[in-house]
Amino acid sequence: MTEAALRQTLRQLDGQSYKAYKSIKGAYDFDLFTLQIDYVQGDPFAAPSQVRVFVPQSVAQFPTELFKTHSRTVALEDYLTRQFDQATHQFKQHRGSGKSGLIAITRPGQAILPRTTAFVDEDRIELRFVVGLPAFGRRIAGYQAVDLLCDDVPEMVGRSLLYASLNPKAIRRHVETAEDADWLRAELKARHLVAFVADGAILPRRSGVDDRPLTRNADHGALPFQSPESLRVSFDRPNHGKLSGMGIPEGITLIVGGGYHGKSTVLRAIEQGIYNHIPADGREWVVSDPGAVKVRAEDGRSVAGVNISPFINRLPQGRSTANFSTPNASGSTSQAANIIEAIAAGATTLLVDEDTAATNFMIRDRRMQALIAKAKEPITPFIDKIRQLYTDHGISTLLVMGGSGDYFDVADTVIAMETFIPRDVTEAAKAIAQDYATDRTPEGGQSFGEMTPRIIDPRSLDPSKGKRDVSLKVRDVDQVRFGTKDIDLSSVEQLVEPGQLKAIAAAMVYAQQHYLDGRRSLTAVLDGVMADIEADGLDGISDRLAGDFVGFRRFELAAAINRLRTLRILT
Ligand code: ADP
Ligand code: MG
Repeated sequence: MTEAALRQTLRQLDGQSYKAYKSIKGAYDFDLFTLQIDYVQGDPFAAPSQVRVFVPQSVAQFPTELFKTHSRTVALEDYLTRQFDQATHQFKQHRGSGKSGLIAITRPGQAILPRTTAFVDEDRIELRFVVGLPAFGRRIAGYQAVDLLCDDVPEMVGRSLLYASLNPKAIRRHVETAEDADWLRAELKARHLVAFVADGAILPRRSGVDDRPLTRNADHGALPFQSPESLRVSFDRPNHGKLSGMGIPEGITLIVGGGYHGKSTVLRAIEQGIYNHIPADGREWVVSDPGAVKVRAEDGRSVAGVNISPFINRLPQGRSTANFSTPNASGSTSQAANIIEAIAAGATTLLVDEDTAATNFMIRDRRMQALIAKAKEPITPFIDKIRQLYTDHGISTLLVMGGSGDYFDVADTVIAMETFIPRDVTEAAKAIAQDYATDRTPEGGQSFGEMTPRIIDPRSLDPSKGKRDVSLKVRDVDQVRFGTKDIDLSSVEQLVEPGQLKAIAAAMVYAQQHYLDGRRSLTAVLDGVMADIEADGLDGISDRLAGDFVGFRRFELAAAINRLRTLRILT
């Protein structure tokens, strides 16, 4: 069908009951693109209608340079999503009742991520977004619909999806930044580093709810990052050339320093270094081990069948910790479970901040050892396991710890933050450790301890609700409603966009349908799901044509599964 036909149909529908909109489902050829209406909402207040536009490359004319590698393609798609998002804000968004007149695309944050909003290849650009089909009351506002679909949408497409309308320098910067960041991240391993923070990086954010960089102003500006000489490494990026900054070596690294001197800010930037960031974010050149997982205490979480015995043994009343389950974990048991689950999912670096750690899990000093016999203390503190994690499993730890010097003994590198500038104080810390022995008795035993594979009971994942086989809902980056159960993800700190939660929820259903068979371990299930996404993209995990999925890691998928309160493990 043609654009003219759509205009005519919409005018004819004017004044009819809203349901009559269903007839416009289908594809329409416009001058520059094809508009495809995939889903038509049932009423003006319901979830908006889903549409796609396809712009042929003969019209869009993006140089193949811009999508010649995977890194570049993801970044270009991300860029076009941002451009379209900006364009939508320049148009009228209200044309009647309910969501009438809305045009919206899933909005990106500071990270450049794979998204199902946009796809680019040699043939065409595909863009997915939603519209609120206009109505007055519950009567179709046909002329408003013509303005929306036949005038505004083409205008937005013209402004945001044609190479000729865009800023070529800005596009190049976007794709080259992502490509360089991916390159840097891949280099870390060869250099035996777990993270890199470039000189000049801006780490602090505007606020706890605003992820943009802290603005520079006269008195309280953000202090750019500056590496200590001894930890400085340099790289020669494929696009942007030479770059220096602080390399955090594999092994055990402590970040110490006075309160409010910027310790947590550095750690948070490194947590987010698993993602690429947009130019001018300040963290474009902060990259970390893709297997870096933030672990913290999370009291109240549920735990299903995790062997936490490397950390916790001999609970009161003889409760087993080799197959530990609880609907309400304590600070220390939740942190132990978080660590064991992260390792099972394949974590290669653990990130821990004293601000969000359980004290009794982290330390147990000589005096406490003297007062409470080991036999009466179920917890083997992290300090006695941190070295074995590295020697037995090759897992590095980066730990913010301003409150206890006991860790000097086990650290390879000690970095002190002073007024937001790091100093390498490894030698001083080692000398102090010599002069003031802790006289602790090591409690860690000979090895880290046993890791037990977990097999999920497939029946314990149930996404159904009432008559619906699958009901999924997401609230911000904090919560997934899976069927009738809420999964609390507010302590899973490396999730940054609601679209990641939507994709994770879909991936859980996908895992249940394709991999949970009562035999495969959770690790193998994660392998299967992630390999399929790698091969087929995020579209493969859902029957629904989703324009709101955002890329996620296996660790966050595991985190969501592990926090499902109905989860059961087969033994
Ligand atoms: P700590 O963990 O050492 O107590 P934080 O990392 O929480 O300290 O930082 C304390 C405050 O300083 C925060 O408000 C943070 O935004 C700000 N801050 C951190 N790094 C910088 C920086 N480089 N320049 C300016 N302000 C910063
Ligand atoms: Mg802190």
